[in-house]
Amino acid sequence: MARALFLDFDGTVRTTISGKLPPKRPERIVILSDVPPVLALWREAGYLLIGVTNQGGVAFGFHGEAEARATTQATVRLLNLHAAYYCPYHPEGTVRAYAIHHPNRKPAPGMAFTAALDWGLDLLRSAMVGDSAEDEAFAQAAGIGRYYYRDQFFGQPVRPEDLEP
Ligand SMILES: [Mg+2]
Repeated sequence: MARALFLDFDGTVRTTISGKLPPKRPERIVILSDVPPVLALWREAGYLLIGVTNQGGVAFGFHGEAEARATTQATVRLLNLHAAYYCPYHPEGTVRAYAIHHPNRKPAPGMAFTAALDWGLDLLRSAMVGDSAEDEAFAQAAGIGRYYYRDQFFGQPVRPEDLEP
């Protein structure tokens, strides 16, 4: 079975020109500079690189789902990821169609389970990098074997061989 490195997007691998997150347009995305060299190590070691991003701004009408899809796809291209999943729902949203509890909204594990089915992943031998307690809870709920906060992960950096016993 394949192994994945799951990545939160906003505040973990990307920011924007203005610093306001999430990005509304692909051309506003700024990749954090410590990210690409570390991801290259994990890609070379055979890990699938998979984004998992809450885009609750859609549920509040800050931007449309088309924008969330476009910025997700742009981030996949900029970082040469294998795939990314986004969740446009938020239970307290103001746009009725998106104002629901959804199993894909982190910390619920839906996006990891979908990715596991799509890519044949061994979640226990996979890892997750994020910047929030919500990301950590997501990893735990999904049974992802390791969780790292982004500064620790990209700062050290953590290497694929560090996961081996
Ligand atoms: Mg984040």
